[in-house]
Amino acid sequence: MLDSRQRDIVRTLWEQGRLSRWELHERTGLTPNNVGTLAESLLKMGVLCEGTAEPGGAGRPRVPLEIDPLRRHVVGLAIAPGSVEACHVGLRGHPVGPPVSRSIDDASKVIETAAAMLKKMRSNETMAIGLSVTGFVDAEKHAVLFSSALPGKGPATLDPVYEAVGELPVILENDMHAMAARWMLTHRAAGQDVLLVLVEDGRLGAAMLIDGRPNRGCATGGNELGHSRFFVDTEKCYCGHNGCLERIVSTDFLHRQRQGSAETLLQATARFTGQPEKDGALITILDYLACGLANVVNFVRPHRLVLVSPFTRSPVFAEALVRQVRTNLLVELADRVKIDFWDEPAAGSAETAGWLALAELFFGGWGAEAARIKS
Ligand SMILES: [Zn+2]
Repeated sequence: MLDSRQRDIVRTLWEQGRLSRWELHERTGLTPNNVGTLAESLLKMGVLCEGTAEPGGAGRPRVPLEIDPLRRHVVGLAIAPGSVEACHVGLRGHPVGPPVSRSIDDASKVIETAAAMLKKMRSNETMAIGLSVTGFVDAEKHAVLFSSALPGKGPATLDPVYEAVGELPVILENDMHAMAARWMLTHRAAGQDVLLVLVEDGRLGAAMLIDGRPNRGCATGGNELGHSRFFVDTEKCYCGHNGCLERIVSTDFLHRQRQGSAETLLQATARFTGQPEKDGALITILDYLACGLANVVNFVRPHRLVLVSPFTRSPVFAEALVRQVRTNLLVELADRVKIDFWDEPAAGSAETAGWLALAELFFGGWGAEAARIKS
């Protein structure tokens, strides 16, 4: 991978675009000599390329450096329920070629299929592998602890995947953190505490970035906001409980509240008016969702809450949700926390998994080394 000074150079170019060696010296604090040496090594590695020279006043024309979009890439691999997907992602975050996808009915074949796909995708130009899995993983022991992609299986080793890539670094994470990595790198929010919440019909996942890095707990996984429970009767959740927030934010729960309706939750949000006599059932769902979101914001105090949800495409619903979240927040937080929407359809995709590798490449702190608990 890159050493920390090479990373400083590449990160600065990622954040600020093309810069001359002199500008890199000014912005990183590295000496001009060091910048020169580091730039040479990165040019040789194929990580950077030189742009066309720009006249720079009296002196020599300055040759800008930029991240090379062509020569090197990372591989993203996403293990999700029923499928494994892989793709190449260039160092500017663009997909290179279409993703390769395999549907898998037999959970016992998932890991060997993933390993075989990686073997084909990796090449001498590959810099790192971003690997996302739904559920909980142990990045240090290369194991999946619990995952909807491997139903009914206990801990499963990912050793075949690691063997398939040889010496290349693998950044293994939960799929929600992969999404958060992608958000962070595309929104210039490094160093912030960010709470990213995916809200879909019957599915609610979250990731928490602390100072721009995934929070480390006793296991690497998503932040299970979807299984926050309320005293309300719902369909039984796959976790075994009743009243989970992700069961409340669902078409099934909407139909329980409004007998005889054939509308999906997405359709209902699209024509949401906010009038209690028309939208009482949907307002109930919105209230629970806002309560769950506000509780977690009060607890975490993030700089930003990022909502990734098809439901926020309805401006009336989105506005009502934000208003209700802010109403439920502590007054001191209500005006400080930023609430953003991100309409990003690629949860659990290989392209998003690739951003894990880019996050490690440019910012560091995403690999298993960072996850290691020093005891
Ligand atoms: Zn649950």
